Amino acid sequence: MAIDKLAAGFLAFRSDTFLPNQEFFAALANKQSPKVMVIGCSDSRVDPAILTNADPGDLFMVRNVANLVPPCAMDDAKHGTSAALQFAVTALNVEHIVVLGHVNCGGIKALLTGDPGVSHVHSFIANWMQIADEARRRTLVIARHKSIEEQLRTLEREAIKTSLANLLSFPWIAERVEDGRLAIHGWYFDLDDGNMYVFTPETDTFALLSPELIGSLVARREAQR
Ligand SMILES: [Zn+2]
Repeated sequence: MAIDKLAAGFLAFRSDTFLPNQEFFAALANKQSPKVMVIGCSDSRVDPAILTNADPGDLFMVRNVANLVPPCAMDDAKHGTSAALQFAVTALNVEHIVVLGHVNCGGIKALLTGDPGVSHVHSFIANWMQIADEARRRTLVIARHKSIEEQLRTLEREAIKTSLANLLSFPWIAERVEDGRLAIHGWYFDLDDGNMYVFTPETDTFALLSPELIGSLVARREAQR
């Protein structure tokens, strides 16, 4: 995509979407009240808004390398993802947080294979990917006899589970999950078959997102309230 495609795309958005829906956008201009926060990967192929047919105002979002949530660290480092989480949860009162991972994640591959591209004297990528090191070690146990491709698929899913656990290390998240104001979800998008898989903590598996699964997600949410 070159910049002219981007610019023309904006003009098409303005004429086809913005101008015919001015009331909607005028209300949105005054206030955002998204119900969902998504932690997605920076990867160009997995835009959460496109994958979910979301509208402007629906999703509060952070995209970073490998859709990772760091553990809560109350030090003076500049924690961008944690800052966004804090705003979404304590100011916007989102009701759901979705960690959205995907197949063929470059960050995950770098972590598993020790890609020399990320082992410079100071690699921001290698340092960032340390968040998923526990998932990497789990993967090497679970999938030690598997092919590298299968190990990558396992690590992509294990890293989502690490991020879900790290979400609960933030006290204002743990407290809201505990009392039912907030639910956290792990989703995994398969670029090859175009399917989404949803983490089910009870069975420690990822289930195909289907109309039936939507029904059970809604039922579970109602039961938690
Ligand atoms: Zn990725």
